[in-house]
Order: sequence, then C-alpha cells, then structure tokens
Amino acid sequence: MSRLVIVSNRVSVPERSGAAPAGGLAVALQAALEERGGIWMGWSGNSSGEDEPGPLDLKERGKITYALTDLTKTDVEEYYHGFANRVLWPICHYRLDLAEYGRKEMAGYFRVNRFFAHRLAPMLKEDDVIWVHDYHLIPLAAELRQMGFRNRIGFFLHIPWPPADVLFAMPVHEEIMRGLSHYDVIGFQTDHDLENFAGGLKREGIGEALGDGLFSSHGRRFKGAAYGIGIETAAFAKFAQKSASHSMVRKARDSIEGRDLIIGVDRLDYSKGITQRIDAFERFVKDNPGQQGKVTYLQITPKSRSEVPEYEAMQRTVAEQAGRVNGALGQVDWVPIRYINRSISRPILAGLYRMAKVGLVTPLRDGMNLVAKEYVAAQDPEDPGVLVLSRFAGAARELSGALLVNPYDIEGTANAIARGLAMPPEERRARWRGMMDFLLEHDVTRWCDDFLKDLVPPGES
Ligand code: UDP
Repeated sequence: MSRLVIVSNRVSVPERSGAAPAGGLAVALQAALEERGGIWMGWSGNSSGEDEPGPLDLKERGKITYALTDLTKTDVEEYYHGFANRVLWPICHYRLDLAEYGRKEMAGYFRVNRFFAHRLAPMLKEDDVIWVHDYHLIPLAAELRQMGFRNRIGFFLHIPWPPADVLFAMPVHEEIMRGLSHYDVIGFQTDHDLENFAGGLKREGIGEALGDGLFSSHGRRFKGAAYGIGIETAAFAKFAQKSASHSMVRKARDSIEGRDLIIGVDRLDYSKGITQRIDAFERFVKDNPGQQGKVTYLQITPKSRSEVPEYEAMQRTVAEQAGRVNGALGQVDWVPIRYINRSISRPILAGLYRMAKVGLVTPLRDGMNLVAKEYVAAQDPEDPGVLVLSRFAGAARELSGALLVNPYDIEGTANAIARGLAMPPEERRARWRGMMDFLLEHDVTRWCDDFLKDLVPPGES
C-alpha cells in the first residue's frame, strides 16, 4: 500500500499518538494516514521574521510524521493574508468587489507554493500518493511536476469554485487554471462547483470534458468530481446527547427561561450572511408580535482574519446591528439577540445546537457549511429542531429536509423562521430523519475513502 502525503496550509498535530484531534476533517485524514502511514505537511502558523525559516519541525506520532514549516513575515503577508485571503477567498465566494489584487501578493503566493514543494521534495518516495488541500496551495502540483515528480497528486477544494466570469476577473486566472491541470484528481464540494470549473475550461478554450468525469487541459488528463465533505456524524450525535447535561449548557438552558432558542454559529466572515440574518430575525419579530419575549436568538461568531480590513469593519457592523435590534425590540425582561463574539468549544456547541428549535444557517455563499450538518446530527430524534438553510450553501444540495431560503430575501427568511418554530413534531421528525440518514451514510470517513479510491493508482486498494 503506498504511503499518503497530505499537504495543507495548517496542520492539526495531536498532542500524542492516538489523541483525538479537534475537528472532523482532522479525524478522517489522520485515520487515512494511520492506515497507510505517511506525512502531513503544512505551515506551523509561526513566522521567522525576515530570516530564512529553519529546518522542518518533524513530529512523529505513530505511523504519521507531521512536518511543519515556518514562513517569513513577508511570506505570511503576501501568500496568506494577501493573495489567499484577499483574492482567492473573495473570488471563490463570488465577491469580485472585495478582491484586492497586487503583483507582490500574487508573486508571493506562487513563491510560497514553490517553497512548500522544495521543502516537501526530499521526503517524497516514488510511489507516495499526495493529497493537497484547499485554495492556499493550488500551484503545488505544478511545482512538484516541474521538479520531476510523477506521483499521483490529488487536490480537494474546501470552498466554492466560481463561475467563469467571476474567475476571469482575477488577473492570474490562467496560471491558476494551469496549476489545477497538474493534478490527477480534482475534488469539489458540489456538482455546481464542478460545473463552474468545466464551464471555465470551455469558455476560455483551454480544456474540455471527455465524459465519465475526465477532463483534458494544458496537455494533461485528469479526473474532476464532486465529493461533498461530511462530519463524524455518529460521534457528534453521541457527543451532543452527552453535552446536554454539561454545566455550561444547563446554565444556558436555565437562562433562556423556557423561551424557544434560535441558533446561528459562524466565523465572522462576509460570506456567512450574518447581517442579512439579523435583519431577517428583526423582521420575524416585527411580523409576529406574539413572539415578542418568547424567543431568544443566540449568534455565536468567533473573530477571524482581523488582519484583513473587511473583517475588522464587519466586526463593528455586526456588533452595532445586534445592539440596535436589542435596543429597538428588547424589553426590561427580554434581550432578543445574544451575540457572542468569541469561539465556543465543540462539546458546548453540540449541546446548544440540541437545545435550539431552529438552526439558522444562511450564508450568501459557502463551500459546504459544516455547522448545518452538525446542527442536524446534534438533534434529539424524538424532538428535533428545524434547519433553516441557505440555498447557496453546498450543504443545501444534500440536506433536502431543511427549509431552504434565499438569504438575500429578508422576508422569505423571516417567514422560514416562523414556519420552523411552528412546525408540528411529525413533520420535524420526518424532515430530520431523512437528513440524518444521509449524514450517517455520507460521513467524513466516507468522503475521505471516496476521494482516495479515485486518487490511489488503479489496481491498488
Ligand atoms: N466552530 C467551533 N466553535 C465556534 C464556531 C465554530 O468549534 O465558536 C466550528 C464548528 O463546529 C464547525 C467549524 O467551526 O465545525 C466551522 O465550519 P464551517 O464549514 O461551518 O465554516 P468555516 O468556518 O469552515 O467557513
């Protein structure tokens, strides 16, 4: 069995061999690495000032070697904050208006990818299977090929892939598309992203679909397919059941004093539709005066990427908006919105999801959205809550029992909140059962296996 080499921007290193990693993705990738033996390489998260980074920091955990590299301050600025988060992130989330191109940042992105390839190369064996993750590292395969590596290399994009016209607004789109052609398998979250990719190849006249998921472009043939990422469904469901008795969760339950709970959980990001969601909640309360004093909307929003100006501005906007709505609608004994601007641990989140009658997941654009899946997995089968889900989240292509909304349609979302809160138990159970069965079957381990089945050389299991 060939070794597996995973490369991603950040790496989750367990404390010791066999220790449980933080999230579902790390669980699945670690399991695949344990099975085959291998390496997980990425950025340590540290910068070495302006000095050339020292040697790789290698940490052995059982059959897995974690290989971490520092980057220089300039690298972090240009590759990570600059191109990855200020160009690729907005472009892939259809936000042409927010992309900030700079030659320096573009060059930095390609330079750091070359640096990653050079750091990885001495560790690679001829039959290693390499799996590269996410938008930070698109050009990595091209760099490795240029160094003569002929290994099977796969790429999975965790975020959406935009339609041709949005992509082409990015000055280096050609290099990015060429970079992708050096992989053997390219995985997207949904068939919609795959269609966008195929449309881009065709429109630019740089490639074509050959059928059976095969593509040719830039003189190479590769597979492109949708592999929607899952969560550790069964484990999360158990965990949520247990968390219901966690002291923090109990305190939260006592504090809402029997009101219905509506929950939203999102990193502070413009793609998540948080301001539109607060507008929709306000509309819902205004349209349903009988609900005043009877619901609590809990929005948990950890800060993220505060080095990027849009994120900093959004931090203020959301806090002000929540304050304004509370000021306008609140009563002496009722605060409509509870806004928490920091991260909450997953065990507590799981218990809060389970308490909530409505899970509000309304991104303007999202690759998949794991919160939507976690909300479903956390529910009590006898008395499940209702998921109100944006049609623009990848998860909407899979979770057909959700109430789908267009997050730009404030009244529509407000109506869905009202419908969710009033939904009879039989309908809630039927909707939930269908989604839960899907999530149990398509968990994160299945996602990992499906991708590796296509990536590992035919004939080898
Ligand atoms: N999360 C968390 N604590 C928080 C907020 C979020 O642990 O306070 C986790 C959440 O449980 C989920 C992940 O962060 O697993 C967010 O994933 P998602 O795909 O929804 O969005 P992303 O942040 O990756 O865009």
